[in-house]
Amino acid sequence: MRSADALSDLLVRGTDRSERLTHVEVVPPRQGTKVPWPEWAPPVLVDAWRASGIELPWAHQVQAAESAHAGRHVVLATGTASGKSLAFQLPALSAVLAGRRSNGRRGASVLYLSPTKALAQDQLHGVAALKVPGLAACTHDGDSPREQRDWARDNAEYVLTNPDMLHHSLLPGHARWARFLSQLQYVVVDECHHYRGVFGAHVALVLRRLRRVCASYGAEPTFVLASATVAQPEVSAARLTGLSVEAVTEDSSAKGQVSLGLWEPAFTSHEGENGAPVRRAATAEVADLLADLVASGVRTLAFVRSRKGAESVALTAGRLLDEVSPGLSAAVAAYRGGYLPEDRRALEAALREGRVVGMAATNALELGIDIAGLDAVLLAGFPGTRAAMWQQVGRAGRNGADAMAVLVARDDPLDTYLVNHPDALVGTPVEATVFDPGNPYVLGPHLCAAAAEIPLTEDDLGLFGPNARAGVDALTDGGLLRRRPAGWFWTDRRRASDLADLRSTGGRPVDLVEASTGRVIGTVDDASAHSTVHEGAVYLHQGESYLVRALDLDDHVAVLERADPDYFTSAREVTDIAIVGEDTHRPWGDARLAFGSVRVTHQVVAFLRRRLPSGEVLGEEPLDLPERTLETKAVWWTVPDHVLEGTGIAASDLPGSAHAAEHASIGLLPLFATCDRWDIGGVSTALHPDTGRLTVFVYDGHPGGAGFAEHGYRLAEEWLTATRDTIASCRCESGCPSCVQSPKCGNGNNPLDKDGAVRLLDALLGSR
Ligand SMILES: [Zn+2]
Ligand SMILES: [Zn+2]
Repeated sequence: MRSADALSDLLVRGTDRSERLTHVEVVPPRQGTKVPWPEWAPPVLVDAWRASGIELPWAHQVQAAESAHAGRHVVLATGTASGKSLAFQLPALSAVLAGRRSNGRRGASVLYLSPTKALAQDQLHGVAALKVPGLAACTHDGDSPREQRDWARDNAEYVLTNPDMLHHSLLPGHARWARFLSQLQYVVVDECHHYRGVFGAHVALVLRRLRRVCASYGAEPTFVLASATVAQPEVSAARLTGLSVEAVTEDSSAKGQVSLGLWEPAFTSHEGENGAPVRRAATAEVADLLADLVASGVRTLAFVRSRKGAESVALTAGRLLDEVSPGLSAAVAAYRGGYLPEDRRALEAALREGRVVGMAATNALELGIDIAGLDAVLLAGFPGTRAAMWQQVGRAGRNGADAMAVLVARDDPLDTYLVNHPDALVGTPVEATVFDPGNPYVLGPHLCAAAAEIPLTEDDLGLFGPNARAGVDALTDGGLLRRRPAGWFWTDRRRASDLADLRSTGGRPVDLVEASTGRVIGTVDDASAHSTVHEGAVYLHQGESYLVRALDLDDHVAVLERADPDYFTSAREVTDIAIVGEDTHRPWGDARLAFGSVRVTHQVVAFLRRRLPSGEVLGEEPLDLPERTLETKAVWWTVPDHVLEGTGIAASDLPGSAHAAEHASIGLLPLFATCDRWDIGGVSTALHPDTGRLTVFVYDGHPGGAGFAEHGYRLAEEWLTATRDTIASCRCESGCPSCVQSPKCGNGNNPLDKDGAVRLLDALLGSR
């Protein structure tokens, strides 16, 4: 057992690193609260958990289980390793056992949903380990053989699947699942904070379809949701299910002291775009820290964004360790996607038994990892949300022992802001999960799918929200639905569920075809194809780099091949934005903040080849691609001329000032709206024709919007203040990737005026 102090000393020992540690936050230990098992819990289940080492449950587990048992919808939002599974397995398995009739017939079923296949498989292992006599449990996913699917339909009591399978398979084929659905008593929605943005909107509508189909079989299942610690889990859970949901948020599990260090890498001697200073990569820094910790025998897990990054961290750390003592590199491993469950279990066992001491994993795999009780966790970059960050930090702490975590900032505005503003991480509650089930672009396909499942009636429309009526009318006018006395019918020959892909953002995706093999290696969203897989683009797919030979827009195919060029590419685009309608606004003195509908017009006109890793421009090539339009939602702010005059910004610097403010605000919005900076876009101009003023827009990058811009509008004060502070406090001279430069800028980060952006935002915020 190590004390937190000893661990932090280790980090900064004998180096000049102490300057990089910007803050250490100590989260005090917590004494756990155990309570008796509920009286209704069947002895066979209690015995099974006792045999696995759980003598008594934590209070929050029983609180959530009691609500579910009483038939009340409930969401349990507590930390990692707080035993959320037990809280839903207890009522669910109890119902299955209680539902069994004396004649052996099955009478209650449970549907478990997780965002990934891997997690559903892990859950199945967990349920199987309880050895409930005769329990008929199985997964239902894209890999399940036909016999298993048939068996599940006819016999299963506990089916573990994902929203995609529910959407494409279970609901369209509900008649064959009639036995299972008519007995459905619990729907478990695990890791429900993953359902955000457009994906969240899709899942919300799939769950409404599930409720409607169940109701047609006379079943009204109780929903039990499990979430990471997020703000207002009951609000997100209610929006996700369309039901009123109770929340259990008090974590009563025991936890050791955790020290969270915030770490800002130093500037390097490299020069970036437009001569900007560049910080050392978070992955390089994490590899160093991982090597030091492993050399001292500290069990450490490092979270890295990409698979390639995880492998390079493990490799670099291994090389450093071999320098200390040849052979020591064997103590470090990479844990990555594509591994079979057996391989993952073997690696987890190696870590538990101490044969492996350090491991580097991708964020994406976080869900599938079954390791609790490490000494330290390293994060190469903020994982996107505070909820996800605490989830990863929560991996540290063995049996209530002290643990340490370090968040190493990447060179971008959000990470830079966070390591310099610890209050934003620890003082404030974590963010709420943002999504909008009312998005007409998402709603339409689900109304079609619902009508194909069971014709839609007037009474059904309420379930699908206030936009459902307009949606159904538009689909009827468009010939997709047919109105008959008994309701709206789907009469098309296609499968209605094929109209929506839950993980895509609309439009037909572009297939990525490998030239040498003809194999489809993946797809790219229609919306981003022009800028990412144009002819000549270097495209990264699962950590491998490819060179795009051709993009065929008619057939939605990009032909590419494996290549390792010493450059990367970035697209140049021309973007215009027009205001279609303002939904709401509020004055800030003479400045003005608004939210509404916009039409964004993009055209990718050229691309740059840039040397790796410096980004130095090697050449520019024109592209001949058509214009595209996006109807979406945006938040925008305007500042009138007389206010601008008071800022002292020269007229010629206004475009660069607005542009810099726009970039930084896009970088910071994810802190407030659970989005990724790639989910949103922006346009800034010193004079916009629709407003007649200097205007900065930030818009949702998905048709119809995803709720992010709306969230920005609601939290504009906090969001734009954080934006201003990020720019002002950055120690660079005139703009860098940590403040105003953006990796996705269609104008090559030009013009940008760092100082002007601060003055502009001061004028805007000062007008309130
Ligand atoms: Zn900077
Ligand atoms: Zn830009």
